[in-house]
Amino acid sequence: AGKTRTGKSQAAADLDDFRLTSPERVVYPDIGASKRDVAAYYLAMADWLLPDIVDRPLSIVRCTQGAARPCFFQKHHTAGLDDVDSVSLEEESGQRADYLVVRDLAGLMNLVQFNALEFHPWGATAQRPDRADRIVFDLDPGSGVPWTEVIAAARQLRSLLAKLELQSFVRTSGGKGLHVVVPLNPGCDWDLVKPFAHSFAETLAQMEPLKYIATATKKFRNGKIFVDYLRNGRGATSVASFSLRAREGAPVAMPLRWEELGRVKSGHAFDIRSAQARVKRLRRHPWAGIDAVRQDLDRLAERLQRLR
Ligand code: ATP
Ligand code: MN
Ligand code: MN
Repeated sequence: AGKTRTGKSQAAADLDDFRLTSPERVVYPDIGASKRDVAAYYLAMADWLLPDIVDRPLSIVRCTQGAARPCFFQKHHTAGLDDVDSVSLEEESGQRADYLVVRDLAGLMNLVQFNALEFHPWGATAQRPDRADRIVFDLDPGSGVPWTEVIAAARQLRSLLAKLELQSFVRTSGGKGLHVVVPLNPGCDWDLVKPFAHSFAETLAQMEPLKYIATATKKFRNGKIFVDYLRNGRGATSVASFSLRAREGAPVAMPLRWEELGRVKSGHAFDIRSAQARVKRLRRHPWAGIDAVRQDLDRLAERLQRLR
């Protein structure tokens, strides 16, 4: 377990160990949750959240005026983030820039002090930014799609991925949908991952054209589910498991066991309170074993034949 600057273990750390200005400021006006409530959430959840974000380039959603006011997406390291590491990476433009990298609890709490509400890691580590170690299929239901169909879609992805010998994991996004996550270990070049994610989404849309759509521009048409494969490129992010969302009700992105999925009522079924209550009851991570899963995209053309 990580240590704070005061040398306590994460579990033993308390809020007074961290700088927190304006703790009384209301961040979620609809439920009356303050900046202190947010900080207490992240402190209590650190052992669950940190594995998903540590050592990865990280984007944050910062809400300096609370979640009900405009927030902004920040990718780059800025002055004052003394406990947050940075890594210099080449951007699409060819220029280099310093990306945020959290290494420990102190880094996480430094970002919370800077009014970060959401945490969005890359699907790659800071050390090997060109190799993807997870694929994320982001299921975005268009208006009118019943929740039961979103669940059915996630299960269908799971079973198709299983035919490709790919084990997958599911979480609520904290918003409208679900994310189906495929660990890649050892990683794969984005050049392989990106076209795979795209063609997998297109295969789904061809198999079930009334249910799925794989083109971003038409995503809200006809009450279909957009299989958003665009999370899978160098520099793309998706929300971390256990991150709060800067949305009404302080929802949380929550990893699930597949067996639990049928009991979950929506993409925002878990919130700042129920997420903490849930992890107290959990004996282990819903995705326990994910790091031991050994799978990659080798022999993919051959495996794809089995989908047809
Ligand atoms: P929902 O279930 O409501 O769709 P979501 O987290 O999947 O929730 P999306 O809008 O589908 O939200 O976005 C998917 C991901 O795209 C986000 O989790 C985030 O990592 C990334 N993203 C969102 N907004 C931005 C942005 N302004 N700049 C860069 N990346 C973004
Ligand atoms: Mn989504
Ligand atoms: Mn999306």
